[in-house]
Amino acid sequence: MTQPSPTRPVTVGPVTLGGPAFTVIAGPCAIESAEQFSLIAEKTRSLGAVMLRGGIFKLRTSPDSFQGLGNNGLAVAREIRDRVGMPVVSEVVDPRQIEVMCEAVDMFQVGTRNMYNYALLKELGLAGKPVLLKRGFSARLEEWMLAAEYILRGGNQDVVLCERGIRTFEVATRNTLDLSAVALIKQTFELPVLVDPSHATGLRSLIEPMSLAAAAAGADGLLLEVHNDPAAALSDSEQSLDFEDFSGLMDRLKKLLGGLNRPLHILP
Ligand code: PEP
Ligand code: MN
Repeated sequence: MTQPSPTRPVTVGPVTLGGPAFTVIAGPCAIESAEQFSLIAEKTRSLGAVMLRGGIFKLRTSPDSFQGLGNNGLAVAREIRDRVGMPVVSEVVDPRQIEVMCEAVDMFQVGTRNMYNYALLKELGLAGKPVLLKRGFSARLEEWMLAAEYILRGGNQDVVLCERGIRTFEVATRNTLDLSAVALIKQTFELPVLVDPSHATGLRSLIEPMSLAAAAAGADGLLLEVHNDPAAALSDSEQSLDFEDFSGLMDRLKKLLGGLNRPLHILP
């Protein structure tokens, strides 16, 4: 069997991604209000998440869909992060947002649509903050690693990859989760890699099985959409877990990690 390549950990405040412990990042697709984000932060933290996700500037396929709270969401992210004590990752969609977002988020997410946005990647190389680089939905592994290289060359070594599914001929799921890419990255690259089963499958019932499979394939952690009331979510309602689903997933994930001899990262 090929020996795994040693992963170089990336720290985000009190959290280490790509270290010995498995990391769960959870939160809504989009921050909708301070109440919503606060509720989700507290609950997911109590169930074992160590970082929060939440879109502030959303890139939606339709211009009629909810576009995120925009600048109003920045203050919400900062307030909840400071009060609950969880670092926040949120998507940056335009290099002009980097400066204002720096104050409110702890890690920049590059979404699937922007993996090929080299102007953005170059700026993030200079941003002095960790970056979560999602795989472009049509990107080959090599193209994805070269996108990471744009950020690394700028002098920013804190890059974490996230497999979020690719577009194939299959339409039964939103995308096709490429777990073999995750196992291959673990064997050949030193960057930590997370899995986002929410956008990969688009189906709530598949989030838990694919989360467990991701852990078994060697992923360093998960990026999960969790909502206090998925039916009322302003985006990605069908793939968001409610608190009960998330709690069950975390229970079974802990058991699996025990068997894999990998601890779950927890906040003090
Ligand atoms: C997200 O995680 O909020 C998101 C939009 O994901 P992706 O870019 O992978 O579609
Ligand atoms: Mn989403």
